[in-house]
Amino acid sequence: MSDYRALLRELPAVDRLLREPVLINKMQHLPRRLVLQAAQETISAYRQRLSGYAGLAHPPESAVHIDLSPSILAEEAAYLAEKKAGMNLKALINATGIVIHTNLGRVPLASKAIAAINDVANNYSNLEISLDTGERGSRQEHLEKLLCDLTGAEAAVVVNNNAAAVFLTLNALAAGREIVVSRGQLVEIGGSFRIPEIMAASGAALIEVGTTNKTYLKDYEAVVNDNTAAFLKVHTSNYHMIGFTAEVETTELASLANKYRLPLVEDLGSGVLMDLSAFGLPAEPLIQESITAGADLVTFSGDKMLGGPQAGIIVGRGDLVSLIRKNQLARALRVDKFTIAALEATLRLYLDPKRALQDIPVWRMLTVLPDDLQRRAENLAEQLAGRLDSVSIEVIEGISRVGGGALPAAELPTYLVALKPLEGIASSAVVANLRRGQPPVILRLQQDRLLIDPRTIREEEETALIDAVAAAWQQ
Ligand SMILES: *Cc1c(COP(=O)(O)O)cnc(C)c1O
Repeated sequence: MSDYRALLRELPAVDRLLREPVLINKMQHLPRRLVLQAAQETISAYRQRLSGYAGLAHPPESAVHIDLSPSILAEEAAYLAEKKAGMNLKALINATGIVIHTNLGRVPLASKAIAAINDVANNYSNLEISLDTGERGSRQEHLEKLLCDLTGAEAAVVVNNNAAAVFLTLNALAAGREIVVSRGQLVEIGGSFRIPEIMAASGAALIEVGTTNKTYLKDYEAVVNDNTAAFLKVHTSNYHMIGFTAEVETTELASLANKYRLPLVEDLGSGVLMDLSAFGLPAEPLIQESITAGADLVTFSGDKMLGGPQAGIIVGRGDLVSLIRKNQLARALRVDKFTIAALEATLRLYLDPKRALQDIPVWRMLTVLPDDLQRRAENLAEQLAGRLDSVSIEVIEGISRVGGGALPAAELPTYLVALKPLEGIASSAVVANLRRGQPPVILRLQQDRLLIDPRTIREEEETALIDAVAAAWQQ
């Protein structure tokens, strides 16, 4: 191996690779350009590897025995071409037990919502036409009445996400004027949504009142002036303050706002429409409670606790909602027909709370009984034991999380399948194999143990999960 250049010369050219039967075959059913790219990239990866040996006096044994035959490289290129031809964004199995998982697409939709998307995707629809009069209608009308029914609000408007809802609300109500917020509520959600920054972008000036841990009603009153446009209350959805703390309740703040004829805007984040405490979960403020307590506008996400598509929902006073709808930015932040379809179908399920609990995946997953989780974990463990060698498998008690920055303190008791390879492969390698598998599986790794939480796995995914774990184990 004195001369790596000799090896470089042995590398087959692209044309040569493309004449290999395996690649000719791939070109029959995959886009030609992807097969070509795959061949080029495979050759270039080999070239790079060989160049790495260029300056070495004693190249590694593996370099001496490197096989550069076209058939070998073509096999690799074929595998790469298949990978390139597959979808980048794809379904996976969430075995983490984190129910609202932002990086994994937050939440799966109810089947009614999926059917509704399918229906408007396949057909023309009455998106912006009134079927009663034949005149032009508003896309918002499909959702407004339902949202008002469910929340007790006068009016509603839906935009792209809750960050957009807050931004648009502040811009419409307060650009060039002042908004008063408690210092204890200047939160960051998910790294990119920060109240002070959203506020600055909206053109409203942030007037901070109180301290990090305590804010009183008199703090708000002290800063009111002619240029005050609104009070903003932000639900600190992703963290909890304990100890020596004070926050002003919505009712109190609403009456102060009323006294000065200022609107009170409340950003509730998660969007809970049903009382969680009935299921042993910490109580979260309900949208309808904030409206009753006197908030003039409430904003929340469509894809957190609501269990619907990504959306930002604004409900509240009719005059304020129409101000928001008329704002230029409303057009830029408007939702598409798929979102409207999925949101309408999801909201309709809430008309009957029993249906909502059964049919909306986020609620089904949050309220599944521990006994069911135990039965499913034991069944998974048994099936996995039949497929894996050199493994320790046990079912242990554990905790699932709500996730998505919602209910950070909630600990949902669950049963986990804990897997530990005894020899041959490292747990971290299995995790990586699972991530790259088909379908990919995402799970928790804790002290060398792979933890599978049945809470976020549908029963019909179990066979695929077991196959994926078995495949990842054997690699
Ligand atoms: C999640 C959250 C947001 C951002 O909502 P998106 O729908 O992700 O844009 C804003 N405010 C609060 C309080 C939140 O919890």
